[in-house]
Amino acid sequence: MRVRDGFTLSNKHLLDAVAAEVVVCVKCDLWKVRKKAVPGVGNPESHVLFIGEAPGQSEDLKGEPFVGAAGKLLDTLLSEIGFSRADVFITNVVKCRPPKNREPRPDEIETCTPYLNRQISITQPRFIVTLGNHSTAYVLSMARLPFHSITQARGKVYETSVLGLKVAVFPTFHPAAALYSARYKKQLEEDFQHMKEELLKKGLFTPSTS
Ligand code: URA
Ligand code: SF4
Repeated sequence: MRVRDGFTLSNKHLLDAVAAEVVVCVKCDLWKVRKKAVPGVGNPESHVLFIGEAPGQSEDLKGEPFVGAAGKLLDTLLSEIGFSRADVFITNVVKCRPPKNREPRPDEIETCTPYLNRQISITQPRFIVTLGNHSTAYVLSMARLPFHSITQARGKVYETSVLGLKVAVFPTFHPAAALYSARYKKQLEEDFQHMKEELLKKGLFTPSTS
């Protein structure tokens, strides 16, 4: 909640306003091939933010992030540490599906990330989980930190500042990478356990089940 010009605006209202712009956005060419843009979902008051890469086919059809196979794995990983997606806010670097699930291009990331930046400024996360290369590269660049590869960065806690907010950035693999690799899956599970310990230490852990 914050007060602007005498009015109290909830995070939900502010995030809804961003989402309303995203769903009609035509700022990069991805709008031409999307079915639905995918602004983000979750608890508008949460201080834990998960950032993926870009919508895939299921997300494009539904307009919601992480609802396909990678999303099911994300839900499982969250429930294994006592979280549900209703406890966190989940979004992506790029809000529309790149054709054939190709990686988002640098110009698309540059055009789209003002929306992500606004979502960060509204939710004021204290803990940002970056899922995969693109999300980690973007958030660490915002923190003016070097990034080499997700393999090197994963599982580390970067106590830093993003958009003027003091925040811990926690990179891990993208759940899609773990769908076909037992090794990545195990490392993701380890990272989620580590994440839980960090969240507990920071008093940010409010499990919905335990
Ligand atoms: N992969 C992503 O990065 N984001 C989604 O929303 C779905 C799959
Ligand atoms: Fe707009 Fe982002 Fe979609 Fe491009 S990807 S059309 S910038 S919402």
